[in-house]
Amino acid sequence: MNQDYPITIIGAGPIGLAAAAHLIERNQQVRVLEAGSTAGTAIRAWGHIRLFSTWRYNIDAAARRLLETPTANYAGNWQAPRETRRPSGADMVTEYLEPLAAHPALSPAISYGHRVTNVTRVQADGHGVDKTRSKARGDSLFLLRTETATGTKDLLARAVIDASGTWMTPNPVGRSGIEAIGEDEARRAGSITPALPDPLGADAEAFAGKTILVLGAGHSAANTLISLGRLRQRHTETRILWGLRGAANPVRLYGGGPADELPARGQLGTSLRRFVENGDITLMENVCVTAVETGDRLTVVLADNRNLVVDLLVPATGFRPDLAPLSELRLDLDQIVESPRELGPLIDPEFHSCGTVPAHGESVLSHPESGFYIVGMKSYGRAPTFLMATGYEQVRSIAAALAGDRAAAEQVELDLPETGVCSTDSASSCASPEPDAEVVSCCGTSEPVAIGFATGTLHGHTELLAAQKN
Ligand SMILES: Cc1cc2nc3c(=O)[nH]c(=O)nc-3n(C[C@H](O)[C@H](O)[C@H](O)COP(=O)(O)OP(=O)(O)OC[C@H]3O[C@@H](n4cnc5c(N)ncnc54)[C@H](O)[C@@H]3O)c2cc1C
Repeated sequence: MNQDYPITIIGAGPIGLAAAAHLIERNQQVRVLEAGSTAGTAIRAWGHIRLFSTWRYNIDAAARRLLETPTANYAGNWQAPRETRRPSGADMVTEYLEPLAAHPALSPAISYGHRVTNVTRVQADGHGVDKTRSKARGDSLFLLRTETATGTKDLLARAVIDASGTWMTPNPVGRSGIEAIGEDEARRAGSITPALPDPLGADAEAFAGKTILVLGAGHSAANTLISLGRLRQRHTETRILWGLRGAANPVRLYGGGPADELPARGQLGTSLRRFVENGDITLMENVCVTAVETGDRLTVVLADNRNLVVDLLVPATGFRPDLAPLSELRLDLDQIVESPRELGPLIDPEFHSCGTVPAHGESVLSHPESGFYIVGMKSYGRAPTFLMATGYEQVRSIAAALAGDRAAAEQVELDLPETGVCSTDSASSCASPEPDAEVVSCCGTSEPVAIGFATGTLHGHTELLAAQKN
């Protein structure tokens, strides 16, 4: 009887829509609940950033088949973008996610403006099944509580795929993984901006002539800083402070410059270094934020009793999964990165970059709660190294399992190039320290600390895992 209910996917980002495409291909009943008003709501927020992976790695195979195959009421004349081009976030939405979400096989299954706030289990006769109830738990349905413009709804599902990403839950700017005192108020007042603002585009007016503190040391920080450096060339009164939570290590901050084995990485580091050496950007070490005070300007109080007075603070401190809606489910999570337990050691950013994570599917992503999966960016928990190509393989495998095709579910493969897909520049969630790098953070978050790119392939886990566990 459970078959009468749909498999419900939370989130219409690239991985949620790919999951839907795979399930539709396997004739499964699907429903997608999306908090935003369009597909790719999260990517739209960083639409001005150019991806570091080319189209070849950004399009899911089942989604491509759907888009390219003419069917009733659909001509199938979607133009696939050139494989070697790197899209911007905005291109991802307009050239791929929007056409996919508008496909007649998919569009009726998507409900926009539906934000899932809780997932739990319930029997088909309506009796509740809370986390402590084990009897017939596996046979019960899922209940998704959903906030919409017209009120709260409870929706039922036979299985749930959580592809809601991590964009909505940035890491705090405070030390030790918790908010600085006053942080919430400063975010609401706009003194702490969203991650990855657009200082050369939509946010130029808000940033020009201001004093800005950028906190973090990964690609996001590098991108924001370089954009701000360029803004300062036009508006010379703009002041840019770059706060590192630990000590500065030039090699880790700037890469190898012209001698870098990856020219684009060297270029990014070289540009950033030039701005710092010219005095356009002031580099500050040991910026461990304990409190922020919102007034006419923002006072940032540091652990060593220094105070910085700025107009805006840009957090480039990474993201974490929102696990609160899942608190009634029995999850088995890695204690360090908050990914499914088996995946944790494979993606820990202290040991891995994005190209060094092996293909994994349904069995690695399953939880004690049968029929429930976390996929995509959220499946990596706090690790910043997720790639869409990895997520597409995750959902292919899960769709096969949910359709009863065990053999296809277990056969997982990932086609990444020798150097990983992050072989060019730009912002990414993919910045991670080299395997043996010491994490430069006094604050204990999993923020990326180096301008690093994947240079390895799928090897070396045994040694790294052993090193981590010892
Ligand atoms: C700046 C940046 C650059 C990146 N560059 C690359 C790259 O070059 N190559 C690469 O492979 N990867 C890259 N990534 C990593 C990753 O592939 C992307 O973040 C990708 O968007 C993740 O897809 P997703 O579907 O898992 O999540 P998202 O794209 O975040 O989509 C999640 C969706 O769920 C919705 N949602 C959230 N909460 C709820 C809720 N409670 N209820 C209902 N809906 C909800 C959101 O509105 C959103 O539409 C990058 C990430 C960032 C931030």
